[in-house]
Amino acid sequence: MDPALQLLKDLIAVDSINPSLVAGAAGEAAVARTIAEAMRGTGLTVETQDAVPGRPNVVGIVEGRAPGRSLMFCGHIDTVGVAGMKAPFDPVERDGRIYGRGSQDMKSGVAAMIDAARVIAESGGLAAGKLVIACVADEEHASIGADALVTRWRADAAVVTEPTDLQVAIAHKGFEWVEIETEGRAAHGSRPRDGRDAIRLMARVLNGLDVIDRGLQSKPPHALLGTASLHASLIEGGRELSSYPDRCHLQMERRTIPGEAPGVAAREVDALLTRLRSEDPDFKAASKEMFARSPYEIAADHELPRAMLHAHSTLAPLHPCTPAPIGMSFWTDAAILGDAGIPSILYGPTGAGLHSVEEWVDAQSVVTCRDALVSLARDWCR
Ligand SMILES: [Zn+2]
Repeated sequence: MDPALQLLKDLIAVDSINPSLVAGAAGEAAVARTIAEAMRGTGLTVETQDAVPGRPNVVGIVEGRAPGRSLMFCGHIDTVGVAGMKAPFDPVERDGRIYGRGSQDMKSGVAAMIDAARVIAESGGLAAGKLVIACVADEEHASIGADALVTRWRADAAVVTEPTDLQVAIAHKGFEWVEIETEGRAAHGSRPRDGRDAIRLMARVLNGLDVIDRGLQSKPPHALLGTASLHASLIEGGRELSSYPDRCHLQMERRTIPGEAPGVAAREVDALLTRLRSEDPDFKAASKEMFARSPYEIAADHELPRAMLHAHSTLAPLHPCTPAPIGMSFWTDAAILGDAGIPSILYGPTGAGLHSVEEWVDAQSVVTCRDALVSLARDWCR
């Protein structure tokens, strides 16, 4: 069996569910040990960095024989939960596919990038420059792993090996989370003059969000990402049937596109609440940004995506793919690397079912991904 696929199976077999998503879950420590051992076994220099205690990143280095440009491959080693899956940690191979939690998202990309470093190390290493293999924690929650990584490791370019169906992705959306609370007045349900209904006050907010969203989605779209959008994610309010609700709490998400300034969602909500207050002096509400991550984009004619497309195209007779770079809808650690000044792209294997009960990756695409990463590293590190 190809060593990249053996490593992938070894990684799937180790539970690394993100404990910030699923209380009491295993976290990254065990899979980080498996990875550290695999990288040491092929001669890489290996360092472990705790993002927080028990939540490690593992970084392997191939040092070139002369100074030169550095290249980072970066992938997350946590997975989402496994509720409803029959055998999430049993890496079954069937009809050219490998099944299991993390097979697509993204232990396949991680196996491909580690095995690319093995191929390079075992075939004489790099003449110049440096290859950094960054395996990071917590991408599925708050990316504390990538945040910690960029405080210690930099590179002249990076490839995040999230699954892209072997296409080169140069852009993805960002997101902003905002919470809004309306304030009513609790009272006996029979006394309308005493009560003020916080849930119906929130309805005004929801109507306003509807207008904002329609506006966003009727703007000219980003060429690769479409338009920005928002949705109301979570709502709660009220205490019992016979009382006026004194408060209603909403958490919403706004997806952002390149060119939008950070904090745009909080400002839109602010303006909406200001308008609602001016329309009704009894309207009381407050809002606050909870968390935000920026969108990401690199120019299509930047050397890095061109070099990645070229590296892939050397394998193209076997594996044709769209020749132009694409955009991904979901947020990735590429934004953190990009914000840290590291030009980044995404390129990874083909599969389906990420975050669902049946997840798989196409085995041949993992091998192709590995081979293309080897080719890129030899081309870039000089
Ligand atoms: Zn992922």
